[in-house]
Amino acid sequence: MSDNLFLNSEKKPLGYETLVSAKLGKNSLLGIIAIHNTNLGPALGGCRMFPYKSKENAIFDVLRLSRGMTHKAAVAGLPLGGGKAVIIGDPSKDKSPSLWHDFGKMIQLLAGKYITAEDVGTSLEDMVEVKKETKYVTGLPEEKGGNGDPSPVTANGVYWGIKASLKYVFGNEKIKNKKFAIQGLGKVGFSLAELLAKDEGRPYVADIDNEKVEKCEKEFSAIPMDIEEIYSAPVDVFSPSALGAIINQETIPNLKCKIIAGPANNQLADENRDAKLLEDSQILYAPDFAINSGGLINVAGEVLGYNKNQAIKRSKKVYHILLKIYNMAKERKITTAKAAIKLAEERINNY
Ligand code: NAD
Repeated sequence: MSDNLFLNSEKKPLGYETLVSAKLGKNSLLGIIAIHNTNLGPALGGCRMFPYKSKENAIFDVLRLSRGMTHKAAVAGLPLGGGKAVIIGDPSKDKSPSLWHDFGKMIQLLAGKYITAEDVGTSLEDMVEVKKETKYVTGLPEEKGGNGDPSPVTANGVYWGIKASLKYVFGNEKIKNKKFAIQGLGKVGFSLAELLAKDEGRPYVADIDNEKVEKCEKEFSAIPMDIEEIYSAPVDVFSPSALGAIINQETIPNLKCKIIAGPANNQLADENRDAKLLEDSQILYAPDFAINSGGLINVAGEVLGYNKNQAIKRSKKVYHILLKIYNMAKERKITTAKAAIKLAEERINNY
């Protein structure tokens, strides 16, 4: 395996603390846990289950994602570090109680340095099984004493992030009569459309699932858009709420918005190139890991001792975090994507 995975573009170490793997469950699926940084507290990050083509692909993903969690927790001002787990397997057919019990034992061996949660391919119910072997689990259903589905908290954080972005660009945070393109009407996108419509914002919406689009049209008088058309919708804010890497060299020239602010993870296909392209096009970019930190604020409540309602209230601070990032980017003449990473790194290094 290439050492480059652990180095940045200037060949400096990216500073990972721990990388461990184990064979899990009756099918001996490979589980890998990466702990990037625990300066601010235990490393919290979800467990992703995916049929990766190779072990190297899985390691690449877990390293990248764990580092992202360090930045997300630090920017959100949480006393937590960054970690992540991946399991190589097909979530539709490879799950078994023994898989989750062995994964729980693996986490327990790390003695609290890593705390897991659900992620792509894993569910709240899987976490209930993991909990049978370790206490270092978050993201449990509300009936099991957890804070449950993080989506409403994420949507509320994005709503406040959008208000901060409007304030920065237009000088006021009014949503009334502003236009918003929402790409993806899943758990977060639909809640976001509801919050914006409540304030008399005008949602333009697209989803591969037509039923969701029709529901949004009916309930919030949203304007339906084609999957490809949504990029060029005549809106003030474009809100990626489905997939990653959708902001790229092909899509940026089509955008008509002044702001990109949405919950999707890893929105920029190339972090440096696309952040610069957006800046050159005078489009303000709300860094994804800062604006979508409501999800982490929700699960962190289970470690730090606050409930779902308190998590919703806390997610409002995304407003101040984004304004800080925008002002930092302006003062230092760097992109907002770079400013968000700097803000996180300064908090980790000054602790
Ligand atoms: P979800 O799976 O509930 O919703 C995704 C929606 O996108 C679905 O309705 C799907 O049909 C739609 N979609 C898929 N491909 C599309 C396309 N090409 N064009 C338009 N729509 C498409 O997911 P979610 O929980 O709402 O999360 C949305 C995004 O936010 C994801 O990127 C997720 O990683 C990120 N995120 C979610 C949370 C959370 O709390 N759920 C927290 C942080 C980040």
